[in-house]
Amino acid sequence: MIDVPSIFGIDVFNEQVMKERLDKDTYNALKATIKNGESLNINIANAVAKAMKEWAIEKGCTHYTHWFQPMTGITAEKHDSFLTPADNGKVIMEFSGKELAKGESDASSFPNGGIRATFEARGYTAWDPTSYAFIKDSSLYIPTAFMSYTGEVLDKKTPLLRSMDRISEEAVRVLKLFGKDNVLRVTANVGAEQEYFLIDRKMYDKRKDLKYTGRTLFGAKATKGQELEDHYFGAIKNRVSMFMKELDEQLWRLGIYSKTKHNEVAPAQHELAPIFTTTNIATDQNQLTMETMKTIARKHGMSCLLHEKPFKGVNGSGKHNNWSLNTNLGENLLKPGKKPEENTQFLLFLAAVVKAVDEHQDLLRLSVATAGNDHRLGSSEAPPAIISMYLGDDLEAIVDAIIRHEDYESHGKVLMQTGVESMPDFKKDTSDRNRTSPFAFTGNKFEFRSLGSSISISCPNIMLNTIVADTLSQFADKLEKAENFNSACRSLIRKTFREHRRIIFNGDGYTDEWVEEAKRRGLLNLENTPDALKHFIDEKNIELFERNHIYGKKEIYARYEILLENYSKVISIEAQTMINMAKKDIFPAVSRFTGDLAKTIINKKAVSTSIPTDEEEKLLMNMSALLSQFSKLTDKLDENLDKALSFKTDPLTLSIYYRDNVLSVMNELRDISDTMETDMATEYWPYPSYGDMLYSVQ
Ligand code: ADP
Ligand code: MG
Repeated sequence: MIDVPSIFGIDVFNEQVMKERLDKDTYNALKATIKNGESLNINIANAVAKAMKEWAIEKGCTHYTHWFQPMTGITAEKHDSFLTPADNGKVIMEFSGKELAKGESDASSFPNGGIRATFEARGYTAWDPTSYAFIKDSSLYIPTAFMSYTGEVLDKKTPLLRSMDRISEEAVRVLKLFGKDNVLRVTANVGAEQEYFLIDRKMYDKRKDLKYTGRTLFGAKATKGQELEDHYFGAIKNRVSMFMKELDEQLWRLGIYSKTKHNEVAPAQHELAPIFTTTNIATDQNQLTMETMKTIARKHGMSCLLHEKPFKGVNGSGKHNNWSLNTNLGENLLKPGKKPEENTQFLLFLAAVVKAVDEHQDLLRLSVATAGNDHRLGSSEAPPAIISMYLGDDLEAIVDAIIRHEDYESHGKVLMQTGVESMPDFKKDTSDRNRTSPFAFTGNKFEFRSLGSSISISCPNIMLNTIVADTLSQFADKLEKAENFNSACRSLIRKTFREHRRIIFNGDGYTDEWVEEAKRRGLLNLENTPDALKHFIDEKNIELFERNHIYGKKEIYARYEILLENYSKVISIEAQTMINMAKKDIFPAVSRFTGDLAKTIINKKAVSTSIPTDEEEKLLMNMSALLSQFSKLTDKLDENLDKALSFKTDPLTLSIYYRDNVLSVMNELRDISDTMETDMATEYWPYPSYGDMLYSVQ
């Protein structure tokens, strides 16, 4: 039996520990930093470091590490011990405010998109006091930001913190206009639902593709997939349940509010949802959750797959990013209340999000663009590649009423007749029924659903915060000058809804009709990563990020290059793995099978020419033809990959080459292999089948 309250946050240097171990002034100063983003001086840092060290040592720690999030999208850590030499050859355990606040590490081996000149390889990590330190494997982990010697940001945390500051600043400005002078800080909160697969470790170990690339590059469909939809919310199998229990316990110890767990649509697929928290903590915690899932799965003889599309023909895995804005006084700015049509403040914030999403579809789309996620977006399971918004019927009706009428307030009655007024609980009645929308309003928050399961949630939230902050800033500029705030506010809301109505779509996002309709509306349809990422460096986007002090031009170009290079590298590794599997395992296996088949035919004929061998001969002919095609395509893939590896060009052109000349041949090669697998005797096939993998955990 786990006593949840007693273990929750036990490995975290959280509020409660701070209160117990810091003197009052230090505690208050640190609290002010955490809550209101005030900066921290070295005396405070020294006091906090001392308390942290003592706490960590009591809990068995010997080391500390600055924990950061380089552009690889995963986390990085380098451990130093507290050990310091003392007299008589003895040691003492020390940890200073300086060591807490700043670390130095070699930045040269992290992706930096040309920011780091080779002669200056130093990188710095700086403590982020707004995310709690924690203990893992006898080390004290200190969440930090990572930057180059010359001050350029090399990580995913710093821009996120900047974007949080920006949205707070602008939201506070807007709230002042509504007379809310006592709001000091607005926080963007996030709850990230995480999907994943669990398969037996023994199966995983036999699949080179899973080991090297995270997804199956070959594999015929299992005879049973997700057709019956019997896995979704189904009873959790014993082994999975043991895994989930240990995972929960570990996450709770780390102060992560793991709340919901259930089976997902695909066989062997599951989901975990935490309770929402501030964006940067949610980001850190999501990274920790993914790491912990992998470690615990291994302990249970399983492998946790976080790839967006581990199996062809069954649903892939995503991450739903639930996002809302809350004031330091506890008000949720996206809560419509009982009469949203009269709630001007809510409508203004809603209008800001509508305008931001419409004007910056490209940024939202590219924030989730990866080689892995390309297999999901656009196929009929996940949100489409077209960004649109779902508001729910009631809210959409209100928006349309506002657009239609000059003075919507006097038409409140119209809405009443449509039944809006009579709703007992708005939130309940507009709960989301549309699972196909990439960006859905779900009662008191927006749910951005296009994220792939393996990515850091940092980038999508940087985009969201920045585009909404920028829009709020434009609103505030206008409204601060207005003579009559109320009427200016109402006409701004109406104008915004009218101009950006096209982004609202409540229908089925999976259909071909929507693709056509979206085109008519002038919405972007950026189907793959190169198409999406090329917009990162559009002039309008560079201006936006510079204006909001999120990224400088150099930092944008660096990210653009790193992300495109990552796309090309992923496909390159996949292609190399495929060629290896094709030549070393699949070709020899099919060759053995056809050889045995030929021997059987000869043997039968040797006994008597009247023994029929038609069926064997037909199979032999078919398989031999397929094998020859397979071999030719393997050579073609090899050639195209060689060309790519020696191609000296810019990252965008290279990524397009990979998409059109490598990935496309990989798909052809796979199709032939999957046909051969289907037609061949099981004992010859060199890898565990889809059925073996998807139903391996009982
Ligand atoms: P779903 O139907 O998508 O499973 P849930 O109600 O289970 O929706 O919530 C999913 C996620 O949304 C959870 O992580 C939850 O903590 C988060 N969430 C709920 N309210 C908010 C909010 N106001 N802001 C941000 N996230 C929220
Ligand atoms: Mg959801």
